[in-house]
Amino acid sequence: MKMKAAVTKNPNEPYIIKEVELDKPQKEEILVKILAVGVCHTDEAGKSGVMPFSFPVILGHEGAGVVEEIGRSVTEFKPGDAVCLTFANCGKCNPCVEGRPYACERMNDINFSGVYEDGKKRINWDGNPVSSFFAQSSFAAYTVVNQRSAIKIDKDIDMGIAAPFGCGVQTGAGIVFNSLRPEFGSTLAVAGCGTVGLCSIIAAKICGCSKIIAVGGNEKSLELAKELGATHIINRKKVEDLTTVIKELCEFGVDYAIDTSGNQKMIFSLLHGLTYTGTLAIAGGGFQLTLGSFDLCARTIKGVTEGDSNPKIFIPKLLAYYKQGRFPIDCLIKYYPFEQINEATEDSANGKCIKAVLRLDT
Ligand code: ZN
Repeated sequence: MKMKAAVTKNPNEPYIIKEVELDKPQKEEILVKILAVGVCHTDEAGKSGVMPFSFPVILGHEGAGVVEEIGRSVTEFKPGDAVCLTFANCGKCNPCVEGRPYACERMNDINFSGVYEDGKKRINWDGNPVSSFFAQSSFAAYTVVNQRSAIKIDKDIDMGIAAPFGCGVQTGAGIVFNSLRPEFGSTLAVAGCGTVGLCSIIAAKICGCSKIIAVGGNEKSLELAKELGATHIINRKKVEDLTTVIKELCEFGVDYAIDTSGNQKMIFSLLHGLTYTGTLAIAGGGFQLTLGSFDLCARTIKGVTEGDSNPKIFIPKLLAYYKQGRFPIDCLIKYYPFEQINEATEDSANGKCIKAVLRLDT
């Protein structure tokens, strides 16, 4: 079928909205009409050319919309179902079978190599195959995804809210609820006040952490962190030594720390700010961590991908909290018409908005 999509022709070039041709859903795949899609920093990483796929590519991996057509082996969905889309997983490796799709052994292959798990592409532009992203490519009016990448959601949830749950929201919430699981009364520091960091803060508040320390460089985001549950905020640009400030707030350091910045210096400040048995969770990847001479003692450092989430179970739980007003992510979101994708991306990159969501339903 013909549809409009935001194509990235070459690395770092602006998105161009073009008409492309999308294949029909095969066996286990569903065709989804995209109504909203979040803009995430991983799209920017994809755009920069550091990932193994070839260009042109259609990015986008926080889509939400309605199922329009299903492949012949689809059992879980029917046309008309509302869905939120997430990362792809193979469904066959040990972690997938164990219900840990975030640890899929084929994660990189399936999500970042530009082809679907059968090694093929699904979109053509002027007769040339276009790479996919997260086996989703939802910067488009429609997408075809495997049913494993879709989560059935209530039809009354605004698609603009549901979209970012597929990556940023579940990542931030999952680091706390699934990976760290802080005890009631424990202390926690979060570096970075973007979508992931702020969702970690909301989750830490729900867990009953006694001190939640938000570290960031943007005053507006830090104020928002406070509204969402941070008990203390630290502007990293205004302090000489972050570890010292953390230890002033918590005598022996924090029990848990989360890094969403990917900055080596920040990671070390958090590591030094942990208690003797504390745990540091590092969100996402794409960088090298060098420990140097740091004596780990009884501390733990763990990497967390997609919030250690099993999205089919975790996302509906988070959306239920959202509905109850206990996971208030509305204040993070700024909406843009799909056609303003370049402006939305620019605003996200320079801190003008926290979570840009493109709407195709208006
Ligand atoms: Zn797998």
